[in-house]
Amino acid sequence: MTGILIIEDEVALAELLRDYLLHEGYQVTLAHDGVSGAQLALSKAWSLILLDVMLPGKDGVTLCRELRGVSAVPVIMLSARVEEVDRLIGLECGADDYVCKPYSPREVVARVKAQLRRTQMLTTPGRVRGLVADESRLEVVFGDQRVMLSTVEFRILHTLMARPGQIFSRDQLIDRIYDDRRVVNTRTMDSHINKLRRKLATIEAEGAVGAVYGAGYRYQPDVLLGDG
Ligand code: CA
Repeated sequence: MTGILIIEDEVALAELLRDYLLHEGYQVTLAHDGVSGAQLALSKAWSLILLDVMLPGKDGVTLCRELRGVSAVPVIMLSARVEEVDRLIGLECGADDYVCKPYSPREVVARVKAQLRRTQMLTTPGRVRGLVADESRLEVVFGDQRVMLSTVEFRILHTLMARPGQIFSRDQLIDRIYDDRRVVNTRTMDSHINKLRRKLATIEAEGAVGAVYGAGYRYQPDVLLGDG
C-alpha cells in the first residue's frame, strides 16, 4: 500500500476526504492544484488517485489523459457538475470511476474501497497492476509496457478480461465479438487468439490468456502475479 493521492483545490473538502481515508487506515497525500498534482502523481506508484475535474494550473481531465499515457493507476474523478457530458469526459479520459459533487465522504470512501478491491485482484507487490485494456488506443498495458492490438484481438481480450477465470468457448467468443453474426469458423478464432498471445508475449504477459484444452480460453490474471 503506497497511499492515496488527492488532487483537489478546495482545501477544506480535500482535508475532509483525507480524514475519512486516514480513519480507514490509508496513507493520504494532498495536492491543491493541477501542476503540483501532476508532478506528485508521476512521482511514485500510488494505490489510487482522487482527481478533481476543475483545478487551477491544469484541469483534471487533461491531467488524467497525460497520466494514462504512462500509468495504469486507478483514478476516481471528482466532478463538480452532474451533467452527463461531464461523466462521459470523466470516463473518456481513462478514469476508472467518478463521483459527482456534492458527495458524502462516506460515498467516496466506499468507491475507493471498491476500486482498490478490483485492483488488488490484479496485483501483488512487485507489479504495479495487471493488464489494462485501453480501448481508446486499442492498446494493452502491462506494467510499463504496452502493445497495440487489432480491433478483433482487443475485443477478444476485453471479453475475457470482463470475467477473469471464466472459460469462453470459441463459439461464445465469436458471438460476443462479431456484432454482424457473420460466419467465422473456430479456426479463425484460434488464429486471432494466437496472434493476441504473441503480442502479449512482447510485453511479458503471455500467460494472461490461457487455453483450456477442449474448452476454450480464459483470462488468468493470477498467472501474471509471480515475482518475475
Ligand atoms: Ca475544483
